[in-house]
Amino acid sequence: MTKRRFGKTVSRVGRDAGDPDVEISVAADLLSVAGIPIKEDEVSYYSREYPLESFAIEQSASAIWAEKERIKHTPDTDALYKDYQDEIAPIIEKLRKQGNVKPNGIKNTGDISGLIKDKARELGYGEVGFTRFDRRYVYSSRRNELRSDLGNAICLAYEQDYIKTQEIPGIEAEIAQGKAYQRQAELSLELSNFINELGYGAQISGPTWYFGPVIPMFVQSGLGQLGVNGQLLSPHFGSRARLQIIITDAPLTFDSPIDYGIYKFCETCQICFMRCPGKAIQAQRVWFRGVEKNKLIHKRCRPVMARYSGCGICMKVCPIQKYGMAPVMEHYLETGQVLGKGSDDLEGFFLEDKGYFKAGKVPVFDKSFFDMPNGKAEETAYGRLIENLRKTKEDDKQLVEEIWASYRDEIDNIESQKGNIVDMGMDTDS
Ligand code: SF4
Ligand code: SF4
Repeated sequence: MTKRRFGKTVSRVGRDAGDPDVEISVAADLLSVAGIPIKEDEVSYYSREYPLESFAIEQSASAIWAEKERIKHTPDTDALYKDYQDEIAPIIEKLRKQGNVKPNGIKNTGDISGLIKDKARELGYGEVGFTRFDRRYVYSSRRNELRSDLGNAICLAYEQDYIKTQEIPGIEAEIAQGKAYQRQAELSLELSNFINELGYGAQISGPTWYFGPVIPMFVQSGLGQLGVNGQLLSPHFGSRARLQIIITDAPLTFDSPIDYGIYKFCETCQICFMRCPGKAIQAQRVWFRGVEKNKLIHKRCRPVMARYSGCGICMKVCPIQKYGMAPVMEHYLETGQVLGKGSDDLEGFFLEDKGYFKAGKVPVFDKSFFDMPNGKAEETAYGRLIENLRKTKEDDKQLVEEIWASYRDEIDNIESQKGNIVDMGMDTDS
């Protein structure tokens, strides 16, 4: 236990509206980079040449496979997702149309940033930050829907229920996530109406339907840093924060990226890397699309997510999620240790068919657990069609007809899921 030298204090607004500010004491040896290391020209290049959804489309066969696995292994979770989808679909349609709403009358020229921040906090958002809306993080297939006259981003983090999140992986935590999404949808409509009443336009990205990845803009607006688990570690809720952006032409005073010490702290912590049941998190960072990160191994994560209610153990075991950033950083400053590391309270988790894994113990899966189709869903369907036709005698007209009909159904199903596949790709391409 070695006390560390004090580095700096980061002051943030309190957790709820009206709470006193929170001071986060960061040790000197954790200070390194504000936000995340980025090579701007590479971000631009990849955004231009390789659309963000390329990965989700290239690996769409595994997304469709994952849905079937979920139905087989956790039918209750699957039924829950379908109920939520049915409930939230009309609200998402409303959110998508919100960008067409005309602002009401004269533009307010007061302290717009203050008015919006106060309103968002009053509505229940825990973290609110402002930055330029970065069009490099927009799916090419959704660019047509994005208004070109809105240049600013309001980053909004909403807290998912604490107690239920600690039940990860399982249906309780998924219920909490669904409820957070529904609440976010309602709040963002209210906030964007408020912005319209101030005389400005507003378009909403998220929940569940996004114009593109949002974490880079949250980091840019000082609302956290990227963790080894590929999630935003925000000051109050860590990776339990559910994220949304409102894009607007309201004049905002931009925030700046902050060094909370997370980049270095993660190198010491590594709990999510050690506890991931699929060994899907890499210990070392790599440069990917212009950002330095611990790239998730999709083919090791998706089979776990598919069978264990979205998994999320990397979120649950993160000390910043469990205890909040201020106590974790304070503990490190005083002891040089990671709060909760090695304890069952933080690291323990339960897998439905395998039992409880206390700190230090991880499940073992055989190789076949990770077998899943590679490539595009259309290609897999076509491969199956050819194989089935080859196995069938040409004169068995009825069977040949059935094989073609089944292929047509499969292609129709793939077409109808295209939008979902883009959003599902966000989970495993971090
Ligand atoms: S969600 Fe994926 S990366 Fe996270 S712990 Fe589960 S398998 Fe690992
Ligand atoms: S568990 Fe540790 S290493 Fe992983 S994201 Fe959280 S703080 Fe970083």
